[in-house]
Amino acid sequence: MSLSSTKSISVQKVEKSRIGQVDFDNLTFGATFSDHMFECDYKDGEWQNPTIKPYGNISISPAAKVFHYGQAVFEGMKAYKDDNGKIWLFRPEQNFLRINKSSKRMAIPEFPREIFFEALEQLVKLDKEWVRPGMGNSLYIRPFAMASQVGVSASPSTEYKFMILMSPAQAYYTGDVRVEIAEHYSRSANGGVGAAKAAGNYGAQFYPTNLAREKGFQQVIWTDASDHKYLEEAGTMNVFFRVNDTLLTAPISDRILDGVTRKSIIALAKNDNIKVEERPVLVSEIVEAAKNGSLKEIFGAGTAAVISPVSAFSYKDTVYEIDKQEDSYAAQFKKELLDIQYNRSEDPFNWRY
Ligand code: PMP
Repeated sequence: MSLSSTKSISVQKVEKSRIGQVDFDNLTFGATFSDHMFECDYKDGEWQNPTIKPYGNISISPAAKVFHYGQAVFEGMKAYKDDNGKIWLFRPEQNFLRINKSSKRMAIPEFPREIFFEALEQLVKLDKEWVRPGMGNSLYIRPFAMASQVGVSASPSTEYKFMILMSPAQAYYTGDVRVEIAEHYSRSANGGVGAAKAAGNYGAQFYPTNLAREKGFQQVIWTDASDHKYLEEAGTMNVFFRVNDTLLTAPISDRILDGVTRKSIIALAKNDNIKVEERPVLVSEIVEAAKNGSLKEIFGAGTAAVISPVSAFSYKDTVYEIDKQEDSYAAQFKKELLDIQYNRSEDPFNWRY
C-alpha cells in the first residue's frame, strides 16, 4: 500500500512543549508521555486520516467493542540516542510484522507498513528532545490498535483506532528477580493467543502474578497449560537457562511470544560460539540441574529491561538459589545488545534503524 497524498500524515504540533515539567532522573516506567501521539482510524474498509497531534485524552463511546470484548493488540519498542545525538530504533521491522501478526489473530485489520514507519519517524523527530542521551535512557514506543465500533454485539468490530504513544524511560534495574514456576495457572494454550500481544493476555496474568508477589516472587515463569511440565516464558520476557555452558530456551509456538530480544540473543550467542538449544525445556531438568550444580544462570529477555537475571526460583514450595557467575552470559549479552542499540559498536546484523 502506498502512502498517497490523501493518506499522508497531518501534523498538529503542540503550542508549548511539556518537557520542562518532566523530571528525567525520576521516571516511573510508562507513566509520562511525550508531547505528541499518532492516531489513525479504520472505517469503510480502510485506514484513514493518519494524524500526529498533541498527546491527550481521546473521546470514545463506552459501547466501543474494545471495552467489552478486549479486541486490542499492542507493541513495545524503544528509541535510543547515541553519544553524537543521533537517534536509533532497534529492529522496528520486527515490531511492525509482529503487531500485524497479533492483529490477524485478533481479527483486526493489518496496518500499512508505510504509514507505520512514516508515523514512527515523524513522531520521533518531533519529540527528539524526549530521547535523553546516556546509556540506559530511551524513549519507549507503544503502538496499539483497538476495536472502536459502537455496539455490544459479540462480533468483530468494523472500526478501529491505531495509535502510537511515546514514554521516556530510564535504565531500569529490576534488581535480582525471584520467580515462581507456575503449577496451576496458565498464560496461554495450544491454539490460543499466547503468541499475540493481545491486551487480555496481560490482564489475565495480573492475578496469579499478585499471588506470587505475596509469596515474595516478582514474576511467574509460565509452564505449558496441559501438564505444567515445560518452562515457557515470564510476564513480558522470554526466558533462557544456562546449563553448564549451553543456553536453553523454549521454541516459538502459538503459546509463546516471538521476542525480538530473544531472537537477538540467539544470534549473538551463535556468533560468540555459545551453544544454544531451542527446544522444550522440562521443569524437572532445570530442578535437577539446580540440585547438581550445573544450572549456572536463568535470565529473562525483553525490550523493557533488556535482560533480567533471575536469582532464585521456586517450585513445589522449594526455593532454589542461583549463585552469581563471574563469566555471566546475561551480562555479556546485555552489554553486546546495549552497545549495538546505542551505536557504541559495529552492527554486524544490521539491526539499527
Ligand atoms: N514475552 C512476552 C509475553 C512479552 O510481552 C514480551 C514483550 N514484548 C516478550 C516476551 C519479549 O519480547 P521483546 O523482546 O520483543 O520485547
